Amino acid sequence: MSRIDRALLEQLVEGRISRHDARTLLRMENKDSERFALYLEVLQTRVPWPDRILLRSSDHLYVVRRAADGARIVKCDCGQEFGDYRCNWKTAAQLRVKTTLPEFEAIYYPPAAAPEPGWNEIREFYCPGCYAQLAVEVVPPGYPFIFEVLPDLDRYYREFLGLPLPDEDPGWYRDLTAKRTAEWAAAGPGA
Ligand SMILES: [Zn+2]
Repeated sequence: MSRIDRALLEQLVEGRISRHDARTLLRMENKDSERFALYLEVLQTRVPWPDRILLRSSDHLYVVRRAADGARIVKCDCGQEFGDYRCNWKTAAQLRVKTTLPEFEAIYYPPAAAPEPGWNEIREFYCPGCYAQLAVEVVPPGYPFIFEVLPDLDRYYREFLGLPLPDEDPGWYRDLTAKRTAEWAAAGPGA
């Protein structure tokens, strides 16, 4: 097999591909160059909004180019928007923090593997639109939200896909999370 067809890719995305086909895909020596474009096409048919998917970043989250204004934002498959993709989307999510031993032991098995309260906390991030759990991180209290992925989209599309994006700009590849938190600080408590 030198290329895969759309039906197989749909099965892969939906998690119903056979073990045999999945193994075959893994063993392909050269992956067809159109596969990523086809993958995006399959993803696009599964979401209810028109914004163009540039990258899928997790089960529910996508980096998209918003149709209305061309902004590159993070968007949940339910339609909820998390703002500029250069800001850690977690700063726009619903957050639940677990800090006590009973809470830890309800999750960890065996319970003795649970982290020590006071030294670690469990943060669960949820979509404000559909309440899907989007991420979990276990970190010391006060540790900044982990920014899991800030893709260099222009470089990826130009150098790896050979399909430069029409709105290429050096300003797209910057971490702007601190700008958002600075806005919170400037707005003061309760804002
Ligand atoms: Zn959602």
